[in-house]
Amino acid sequence: MTQRQFASVTVELVQGDIANQPDLDVIVNAANAELRIGGGVAGAIHRAAGPGLEKECIPLGPIRPGEAVISSGHNLPNAHVIHCLGPVYGRDEPSDQLLASCYRKALELADWNGIARIGFPAISTGVFGYPLADAALVALQTIRDAAPTLETVSLIRFVLFSDADLAVFDRALKEL
Ligand code: ADP
Repeated sequence: MTQRQFASVTVELVQGDIANQPDLDVIVNAANAELRIGGGVAGAIHRAAGPGLEKECIPLGPIRPGEAVISSGHNLPNAHVIHCLGPVYGRDEPSDQLLASCYRKALELADWNGIARIGFPAISTGVFGYPLADAALVALQTIRDAAPTLETVSLIRFVLFSDADLAVFDRALKEL
């Protein structure tokens, strides 16, 4: 596990399953526009949360790339879920700004809700096709720049699905 401090925020990188992070207050979903179950991260989160999550979420959608909404965590061990719609790489432009907006808005929502510990997956890097190393830099730079403005968020954990993905984020965090 790698950790780095930005202002009063600890950023850490781990390999694991975003739907199994019981010590976090909120986990972030790599959602689809309609906020339905879907596959990848969204499938894992909705399966663990139970059908109440989709029932709560559908009226909150559809959302646009770069946007984020917050719901409760239902059967998850986390009190809340923040749902972000990342850009589809090569279609939703400018993709780097839209991806940065996801992280910024998720952190704003967390701070407005008094949340301390938040976990992110690598938004847009699965079905949406964003190259992982580029996405890692955008994600980590955005978090570094937002850190001094955050009042309640004190831990930001990236949960990467594979050791190879973790190594890519690790390199990006060291390069910042
Ligand atoms: P998007 O549609 O935004 O690309 P995906 O869910 O397809 O979202 O994938 C985003 C990233 O999350 C990919 O790198 C994928 O390997 C990873 N991933 C998939 N399932 C999980 C999970 N359960 N926990 C953490 N990361 C996951």
